[in-house]
Amino acid sequence: MVDYARTAWLSQFMFSQSSLQDFADCERRFQLRYVEAQPWPAVQSEPLLERELHAERGDRFHRLVHRHQIGMEPSELAPYAATDPDLAAWWDAYLAFADLHRLPGRRLPEFSLVTELEGVRLVAKYDLLVLEPAGSAVIFDWKTYQTMPPRSWFESRLQTRVYPYVLARASRNLPGGPRDASGIRMLYWLPAFPDNPVEFVYSQDRFEQDEAALSALLSQIRQRLAVTSSMAITATWPLTPDERRCRFCEYRSLCARGDVAGIAIDEVIDSDYDSSSLLGLSDVEEVGF
Ligand code: SF4
Repeated sequence: MVDYARTAWLSQFMFSQSSLQDFADCERRFQLRYVEAQPWPAVQSEPLLERELHAERGDRFHRLVHRHQIGMEPSELAPYAATDPDLAAWWDAYLAFADLHRLPGRRLPEFSLVTELEGVRLVAKYDLLVLEPAGSAVIFDWKTYQTMPPRSWFESRLQTRVYPYVLARASRNLPGGPRDASGIRMLYWLPAFPDNPVEFVYSQDRFEQDEAALSALLSQIRQRLAVTSSMAITATWPLTPDERRCRFCEYRSLCARGDVAGIAIDEVIDSDYDSSSLLGLSDVEEVGF
């Protein structure tokens, strides 16, 4: 059991878009996953094999792109992509992504930056960061979803705030010097939907809004930890009122939120773009990579 009175926990913990999104989605999930480091008592979705195969395919796609971005030739990588028809289709889409390949500048694939906010560390791990010669920068994030979420969904994700914010804060030591918020773009690209990149242009206004929002979120977490540490017994943090989030949560048996796993990827794909299908997407896929 964690000792909530230890302030060391906060100073040692590395906050990421995933952990912050967990807290925003369900405080109890954040408590179980990060503060108490609870093992996962239940599978996230059924059938498990299909979920695992999809996660592994996504992982292999990320590794292929990384190797290409560090300089390996497509001909060297083609045999690895050819082992799976879906992966091969994603790989072909990636190779045809002309806007990416002709973008000038220094490429930093699988690159992490850390900054400090509210006395804690905040990390962003970029699939690909391109430092353009003019002093601007483009963040690429590959999403191997099999359904295309609307732009509003991407806009609502904490990743869309954390990634450009951390870059603007922590770019001082990057090759070519710091990047102003106004020179940063973030682009989600889905190999299954290669013609529909989702782009967000950053700005100083947005940077200030994000700093305020992230500071508020970190303050909430700090307060929750402080309140818990002042109690004689460990308090259960609030469970999300939106029980749809529990369908794909591995802790649902601990919360008496059901013991049946959420629907599998194909059923998510076939469903409409209601909030429950999008919840499923994030909860199933963000955990893997
Ligand atoms: S099962 Fe539901 S309430 Fe419990 S941690 Fe998961 S999302 Fe939160």
